Amino acid sequence: YRAKELGRNTLQHHDGGGTPVGMPLGEQEELHQAITGHQLFLQYQPQVDVATGRITGLEALVRWNHPAKGRVPPVNFIPLAEETGLIVPLGLWVLNEACRQARHWQEMGLAPLTIAVNVSAKQFADPDFATHVAEALERHRLQSRWLELEVTESVVMQNAERALAMMETLRGLGVRLSIDDFGSGYSSLAALKTFPFDRLKMDRSLVEALPGDKTAVAIASAVISLAQTLKLSVLAEGVETDAQMDFLRQAHCEEAQGFRFSKPVSPEEIPALLRARSL
Ligand code: C2E
Ligand code: MG
Ligand code: MG
Ligand code: MG
Repeated sequence: YRAKELGRNTLQHHDGGGTPVGMPLGEQEELHQAITGHQLFLQYQPQVDVATGRITGLEALVRWNHPAKGRVPPVNFIPLAEETGLIVPLGLWVLNEACRQARHWQEMGLAPLTIAVNVSAKQFADPDFATHVAEALERHRLQSRWLELEVTESVVMQNAERALAMMETLRGLGVRLSIDDFGSGYSSLAALKTFPFDRLKMDRSLVEALPGDKTAVAIASAVISLAQTLKLSVLAEGVETDAQMDFLRQAHCEEAQGFRFSKPVSPEEIPALLRARSL
């Protein structure tokens, strides 16, 4: 991408109803500035083994420290980054920063663990994406087995053939692939059958009503056994309560992530969490 082109025109994007609306140039320029001007940073949220409480992985989550507005949450800028194409350089920065940090923790002598990075549709559709991944691993001397890429169902469904080829290339590199937010949208059964995922992340909306709501219990149980049948590991997102954990343990869900264990934290806080070993 060329920085010069970014500010030239008012890009057209579509709102929910499909009406093109002008996007203010200022916001795009600000986001571009965020990427080049070191206003982005990552937080990491632990993923834990349900049976033991041990930390098995960390999900990298991007944050924007806006010079005037302060902390802007990703829901308020990832969509803009997607629409403008800025997600490609933004995502590349996230990928490299997460690999760098993972390697740094390993060099500190902390037990290696998986770093999960979110990948959006435009990144995944970029033919150079696999090369970018290989280069990031190489540059930071991180073994591919410690990198996991999280994509949502819509990312792979947009162009199934191309997505499948990309997934196979990535798996050839040795990185792990997870389907994120599973159960948040329309039926995802086709995606699970068609694409070579290693792991299923069950969406927070399915976990929220556990264990009181009978329908939620039925759906979560079905998702967990579906994952087992398809030989995917399964992680529950957005776990906040002990009661949810009790359910997940009984249902043999392998891993969990959520405020019950830890909010996303700054990298400086990770060594202490890892040394504590379990949450
Ligand atoms: P996600 O990948 O599903 O990430 C999980 C989100 O749930 C995070 O929100 C996390 O803070 C939040 N969360 C975790 N545990 C709990 C819990 O127990 N309760 C509740 N209420 N929330 C919980 P966050 O950091 O605001 O990120 C939102 C979304 O933005 C992410 O959803 C992901 O889709 C996107 N995102 C974040 N970082 C990146 C990135 O680097 N690249 C891309 N493409 N997308 C990103
Ligand atoms: Mg995610
Ligand atoms: Mg998710
Ligand atoms: Mg989610």
